[in-house]
Amino acid sequence: MTSILIIYTGGTIGMVESEDRRTLVPFDLEHVLVQVPELNKLEVNLRSVSFPEPIDSSDMHPKHWVKMAEIIEEHYHEVDGFVILHGSDTLAYTASALSFMLKGLHKPVIITGSQLPIGMIRTDARENLITAVEIASLQTGGIPQVQEVAVYFESKLYRGNRTSKFSTEAFEAFDSPNYPVLAEAGVHLNFNHEDLYRTTEPEFSVHKGYSNKVLVVTLFPGISERVMEAILLQEESRAVILRTFGSGNAPTDPRFLTLLKAYIERGNIVLNVSQCQKGGIEQGRYATSRRLQEMGVLSGGDMTFEAAVTKTMILLGLSQDVHWISDQLVTNIRGELSVN
Ligand code: ASP
Repeated sequence: MTSILIIYTGGTIGMVESEDRRTLVPFDLEHVLVQVPELNKLEVNLRSVSFPEPIDSSDMHPKHWVKMAEIIEEHYHEVDGFVILHGSDTLAYTASALSFMLKGLHKPVIITGSQLPIGMIRTDARENLITAVEIASLQTGGIPQVQEVAVYFESKLYRGNRTSKFSTEAFEAFDSPNYPVLAEAGVHLNFNHEDLYRTTEPEFSVHKGYSNKVLVVTLFPGISERVMEAILLQEESRAVILRTFGSGNAPTDPRFLTLLKAYIERGNIVLNVSQCQKGGIEQGRYATSRRLQEMGVLSGGDMTFEAAVTKTMILLGLSQDVHWISDQLVTNIRGELSVN
């Protein structure tokens, strides 16, 4: 029998309906087994831990990512896999962050949540939870099928650092625009074996450092020069994630370019990610992005916004060396980036 640890952090999945409000309650496995008796039918030894104060995922903070990583570290050699129950709003950030924090991961970490609380009649929580546990427990000859941080939502398993939340309404709340779905749950669980991630690191370890000295600038036609000045001349940040147009294009206004160049010359990082969900950055394809490339703006390739932000935060927590961080940002380190 495989053993799975369920880590409950909060979110709609664990909300109980009360007369006047919906509240988050600490996860109680016994209570969930009553609501979802199917879990008893799986040949799995289930254990659970809950955040003492479950949170709506809008309150998620890197210290909570560290907490989750520590729980995984503590139980890594005791169980065969992990299922994290999480609010859907910032789930893609957590999935991305954990993928960068957990190095040499050889066991499944499946993150799921739901759009409706577990006790509601039409809830999607039941199927999401059962299948997430089933996927986490799958092994072939004692080797886990999934060995990465993945997101399971509404019949699909995605690579965690490739997902974004794209619907507030549909049960199918997530998408992975630049990477194939890892598995689909229909009558059978069908895996795309060749798309599953396999680390080359033999040893499991956890990076717990992070820095939140990261700023995000979303360009739009007519963005104020004064605002750009206020952002790029301050001394607090160490990296700017620049959300550009199309394949990485930005205005050619020399005042804007001079500000960016000076920011980089002061030893900071600018990472170019596209406002388009599908496809990625191709700096140099147009003159408007060639300038960025020439001044040292890094290409975020086809990384999701969530992966770009969390990867930058974790790398800044790991080193002070801008060259090393820059090199890692443009390298595929956990399957977050397609290499052409
Ligand atoms: N606001 C909730 C959260 O992210 C929504 C959800 O659970 O899906 O925690």
